[in-house]
Amino acid sequence: MCGIIGVLGQLEAAPRILDALKRLEYRGYDSAGLTTLLNGKPIRRRAVGKLGELIKLVARDPAPGTAGIGHTRWATHGAPNVANAHPHAAGPVHKVHNGIIENFRELRAGLEAEGVACQTETDTEVVAQLVAQAMAGGMGPAEAVAATLPRLEGAFALAFLFENEPDLMIAARHGSPLAIGWGEDEMFVGSDALALSPMTSRITYLEEGDWAVVTRSGAEIFDREGH
Ligand code: GLU
Repeated sequence: MCGIIGVLGQLEAAPRILDALKRLEYRGYDSAGLTTLLNGKPIRRRAVGKLGELIKLVARDPAPGTAGIGHTRWATHGAPNVANAHPHAAGPVHKVHNGIIENFRELRAGLEAEGVACQTETDTEVVAQLVAQAMAGGMGPAEAVAATLPRLEGAFALAFLFENEPDLMIAARHGSPLAIGWGEDEMFVGSDALALSPMTSRITYLEEGDWAVVTRSGAEIFDREGH
């Protein structure tokens, strides 16, 4: 199992993401990455090996911005290399994932039949591609995620950021734990309370099948029926 962190903050996101990822190291991982948004545009840094490699990379080549998502990956599908490391990107969609998408082969074949080429060897990139495809068809980010989640089989925790949406993060839990953290005009998403502990102790654990639309001022949490 690996780790997820998401930050919609008032301070620089990358140092907070790296600190949270350190707190999730106990889960094991083989690579790590983060994407921040600066003026709505994504900045992605990924590295293989220990978190120290990502920390060095970000020190050399900073990832500014107050919104970001980060991930430690334990590869299940596809080699532990930079190309397969999360966050994954497709169009305006940036995404991290814990777990396994069991029906990724069918989903990938469907995307390929429609001319969408996946960039990684992972099971998980299909999620970013499906959400991007739904958005290209005219849906907004939340509608596109809501339309994609019922198509996914397996165990997953997901966190999304969207280009040109610096005050939006979407999170989903299906078989893999995920918590929302509440701050002062800041909101967070994380695999566990430990990851969020330096930023907040006010935590809501998503229940099985829940997904959440998060902004700096709060979160709206939906169950799988959309209530
Ligand atoms: N199955 C995904 C991958 O191989 C995510 C693995 C994880 O939970 O880190 O990239």
